[in-house]
Amino acid sequence: MTAQETYKRTLAFELADKLAAGKELSDDELACVLLCDQPGFGDYLAEKARAVREQYYGKDVYMRGLIEFTNICKNNCYYCGIRSGNAKAERYRLSEEQILSCCDAGYELGFRTFVLQGGEDPHYTDDAIVSVVRAIKERHPDCAVTLSIGELEKESYQKFFDAGADRYLLRHETADKEHYEMLHPAEMSFDHRMQCLRDLKEIGYQVGCGMMVGSPYQTTEHLVKDLRFLQEFRPEMVGIGPFIPHHDTPFADREAGTVDMTIRLLSMIRLLLPDVLLPATTALGTIDPMGREKGILAGANVVMPNLSPSDVRGKYLLYDNKICTGDEAAECIRCMAMRISSVGYEAAVARGDHVSFRMQ
Ligand code: SF4
Repeated sequence: MTAQETYKRTLAFELADKLAAGKELSDDELACVLLCDQPGFGDYLAEKARAVREQYYGKDVYMRGLIEFTNICKNNCYYCGIRSGNAKAERYRLSEEQILSCCDAGYELGFRTFVLQGGEDPHYTDDAIVSVVRAIKERHPDCAVTLSIGELEKESYQKFFDAGADRYLLRHETADKEHYEMLHPAEMSFDHRMQCLRDLKEIGYQVGCGMMVGSPYQTTEHLVKDLRFLQEFRPEMVGIGPFIPHHDTPFADREAGTVDMTIRLLSMIRLLLPDVLLPATTALGTIDPMGREKGILAGANVVMPNLSPSDVRGKYLLYDNKICTGDEAAECIRCMAMRISSVGYEAAVARGDHVSFRMQ
């Protein structure tokens, strides 16, 4: 190794130590951590991230039961397989009764968080969402309800919160306005999405945001900006996953994001936001059969097995080759629990709130 190589290597490892010690890094230093390709560096960073996550959450990995209740969406995001412009998507909606029966089955299987996720589907009015949230809370008062139904006005978010919703996931996708506009049509607004996130926080939700990794036009500077946004906004949850192209979208021919960059970012996010709830996502498991295990080993502490009825699973396709679309819920959980224990962690039966919300 030349003197210059030795210097570069030492510098990168020192930056990892600095990050793990909670010290502020400059934008250039964050970029250096993101891009460092020194042998052993990713493992070193992941080890630091695991130590931090274990301080806050021990060995627990929280299981969230995901119910994808509608794949109808009024928006037309360029990267998404269920965008309104995709005439080939086979559409479906679940009734309140169907959603509740997914929750009942999930409860029996041990889930204590239900995530209701869908496109921005105007069929579900505020009253319809309030009704389903109330009904879940009445049947399962010991469970948390997470909503992931896109951009709405603050009044709507407030109604859902008052009905008992605990958490809200709304990915920001990118913290750079110009980049956002390259990924979304003109009628969608970066400023409105950011306003939604602020509204949700003000109301008192545990809020989740997150970006796509390796999305078209993304640069290292964009990712640094994403990390800065997370540091400043301090969400309780961060969902990141690699961009994966869907064949019926304008980005069909774009390259997917990589497992290595996603994992690097998971470790960095864990070190920047030590107590964050951080999923190892299905998208990560889609680009690498061991992706979710690698995510857990990089500092993630949440997984989201699918509880949607099996006849609609294969229709909620935001990207190509999505895994676990053919399995029964019980099978998904068994598989997930095994994956978690295979890397030395434990599938936890608990609501799994953010540490700052546990005493409320
Ligand atoms: S990413 Fe979300 S908002 Fe955009 S088209 Fe897909 S489901 Fe709709």
